[in-house]
Amino acid sequence: MPKLANGMCSKIRLASAVAVLSGVVACGASNAPSSASSASSNSTAPDASAARQSAAAPKLPEVAPPADQTGGFDGAKAYEHVAKLVSFGPRPPASEGLRRSQEYIMGQLKADGCEVDQDDFHASTPKGDVVMKNIIAKAPGGGQGIILLLTHYDTLSSVANFVGAEDSASSTGMMIEMARQLCGKKGPNSVWMAFLDGEEAFVNWDQDDDHTYGSRELAARMAVSGELKRVKAVILADMIGQYTLKILRQSDSPKWLNDLVWKTAGRLGYQDIFVADSTQTSDDHDPFLARGVPALDIIDLNDYISAGYWHTPQDTMDKVSPRSVAIVGYVILESVDELQKKFR
Ligand SMILES: [Zn+2]
Repeated sequence: MPKLANGMCSKIRLASAVAVLSGVVACGASNAPSSASSASSNSTAPDASAARQSAAAPKLPEVAPPADQTGGFDGAKAYEHVAKLVSFGPRPPASEGLRRSQEYIMGQLKADGCEVDQDDFHASTPKGDVVMKNIIAKAPGGGQGIILLLTHYDTLSSVANFVGAEDSASSTGMMIEMARQLCGKKGPNSVWMAFLDGEEAFVNWDQDDDHTYGSRELAARMAVSGELKRVKAVILADMIGQYTLKILRQSDSPKWLNDLVWKTAGRLGYQDIFVADSTQTSDDHDPFLARGVPALDIIDLNDYISAGYWHTPQDTMDKVSPRSVAIVGYVILESVDELQKKFR
């Protein structure tokens, strides 16, 4: 993919501490805020206490706001899902932890009345042929249009004892609650929520397309079936639970889609989290962008790298704030509503 070839901020390519530090500069030199500047620009946030002393490091435990303050989105429930997924241990593709995650996700989706599709496929990886599964929950729509929400639910296999609380349980727990919110509703467009396998690299993100196996499978499958033409917008969530969350706009994504989500976040009072700076991240939205579908990534990668937790055994539940998960869920839920109005 061109972005990877250009050495942009691929999600997985940095391995050593030195590389991580240089990667932050390379990926975000033009506009990513330093932890110091982001802290000073954030003085109106309700959690403006010790929690911001170092990026992503929790100092005070937070709770999710009551659901009636976040549009019905139940952050406490979402956080319980995050904890449950982490309790299954490491969740790399084709592992026992992943199998238990699949069972849990599908059980929740079915209990919420979602129509659930399973796509079992084989991915050709540097470690050989690996069986993978995408899970797609579908909320009904009155017309042909599709709003597609994405999260990955696998974890990195190459780091021992890696349970991925932030990467990828935070967005997956959030998406399970999103399905509870949306599966019983019928909007102008269907809302599909895809839980993707195989986002993480097996060996090296930058070699031989060793990444985003699930999203590439989904985009290809939807292109063949003709469903991809019906997709109005794709919103990916990935790494959305940090205490000092800062989501940057994505310069590769359409301006209108960035604007729609950032205006929604601003209207809800979360401009301290959805900040004005831009970055570019290679992630599961790329296969859709590459096929001309408007797609956006909601992610805070740089701060997690700076804090030293990204792709380490320290990516644990204490790094995930129920409040951050709730707020991102609320913003996405309201953004889906804006998309429904835009494409009614
Ligand atoms: Zn990752």
